[in-house]
Amino acid sequence: MSRYGLFIGGREVAARTGEAFPSVAPESGDVLGYAARAGLDDVNAAVEAARAAFAAWAGLPPGERERILLRCADAVETAAPRLLELVIDESGSTITKARYEVQYSAAVLRAAAGEARRLYGDTFPNDRPHRLSLVVREPLGVVAVISPFNAPLALLVKMIAFPLAAGNTVVAKPSEETPLVAIALARVLHQAGLPAGVFNVITGYGEECGAPLVKHPDARGVAFTGSTAVGARIAALAAPHMKRLQLELGGKNPLVVLRDVDVTQAAEVAAVGAFYHAGQICMSSARVIVEQPIARSFAEALARKAETLYLGDLRDARTAYGPLIHTRAVQKVHAHVQDARARGATLLCGGSIHHGNTYRPTVLFEPPRAGPAWCEETFGPVVSVVGAADLDEAIALANDSAYGLSAGVLTNDLRRGLTAARRIRAGSVHVGTHSFWSDALAPIGGYGMSGIGRSGGKYSVAHFTELKWMSIELGETPRPF
Ligand code: NAD
Repeated sequence: MSRYGLFIGGREVAARTGEAFPSVAPESGDVLGYAARAGLDDVNAAVEAARAAFAAWAGLPPGERERILLRCADAVETAAPRLLELVIDESGSTITKARYEVQYSAAVLRAAAGEARRLYGDTFPNDRPHRLSLVVREPLGVVAVISPFNAPLALLVKMIAFPLAAGNTVVAKPSEETPLVAIALARVLHQAGLPAGVFNVITGYGEECGAPLVKHPDARGVAFTGSTAVGARIAALAAPHMKRLQLELGGKNPLVVLRDVDVTQAAEVAAVGAFYHAGQICMSSARVIVEQPIARSFAEALARKAETLYLGDLRDARTAYGPLIHTRAVQKVHAHVQDARARGATLLCGGSIHHGNTYRPTVLFEPPRAGPAWCEETFGPVVSVVGAADLDEAIALANDSAYGLSAGVLTNDLRRGLTAARRIRAGSVHVGTHSFWSDALAPIGGYGMSGIGRSGGKYSVAHFTELKWMSIELGETPRPF
């Protein structure tokens, strides 16, 4: 059985305690390998390695950081066969989704490489005639990155690439469900020429190594992607140290369907929004709000589409999605469905396990607005469809959430579509399609309980750099006394 170490200072090492934990495949239940179980001493060693590497990395000419990150992108593509296997096995992704993760990761690294050259500063005129003002950007230092299980490669790469491009060094703590993908990535990037200590990975459990990492005084920035509950804990841990904090959290994202659409086509798009990766996507379209008079016919078309989804082998390109990450997730998803039914929702399809941890695509019609299926993140292949009398009511229902991550609007009427997009309170709104998309340069993040800050391109660079105002007196300093 393969053992994976912690990746600290360019070397793979065992945890100081010697402890390890199994990585279990959600589809087969097989143990894929053992990852080192990091504790406080390992956190300290990783942060020290990142701190030691910082000055040299930040001091490289931007063209050199750009060159290294471009090599990293190539290396990820070269390592695709191995990375694909791990993403499929460890996170229960289909081959299609795993391929997307690899391609996206390479694209993000290339986009980030360009950002290394774009740490723009500023000048501005001063009322003092001989004073020159300059604003420069400087990297923060060590950035702690804590990532979730659902897109274990793509999200980790997105979270590290831009802080690295800006001259920071990183200590990453991936989800305990997907530690092997992260160590495999570290190996690939190191072999591609990322200097020792610039990217370190510690694997283990949240309270044991994630929390000490967030609290470490030398980790000046924290990038967290995960659930809102853990995000709140991270914010509390970071607050006493005044850390630069970026939180990308959960969502209960609306897809607004206006009455002019072709119902069958709209249902096909909504099915992708709701069921891609079994709904284990932060931006999945979990609440579909349909303008009358087409709500019922749309919900039935969506259910018909759902029943055609093929749930087979993860390496078969026809397979729509795979298992939920573990049995606890299946239980939670089923509890949400049961609760909605008990409160009076109509179950149009699904509502049960297909096999193992794979849950059938489930469509609920008119669930009450109080239960978890409407209010809480289900993170499973469950979609609630409700009717709205008109555009105003559709927008009110879309905004009936503590979250505000992303949204979609399906219509052929651009004026009404853009009106909806402006009025929906979410970090991203896509008109003409479902609610999820991530682009390397886009500002990804949410309103309300969906997080703080934006990641991607120049937005990440701005977040993970300090602004310093410098001035130069070219004349005489005024002397009032
Ligand atoms: P999670 O919050 O359970 O765990 C995320 C990470 O936090 C893991 O690495 C975990 O080990 C760590 N962690 C847990 N407790 C911790 C603690 N006390 N201190 C420090 N670290 C701790 O999330 P998950 O189940 O892995 O992922 C699913 C969640 O992530 C969903 O809520 C989803 O919406 C969200 N997500 C958000 C985005 C986004 O861009 N907004 C993207 C993907 C996933």
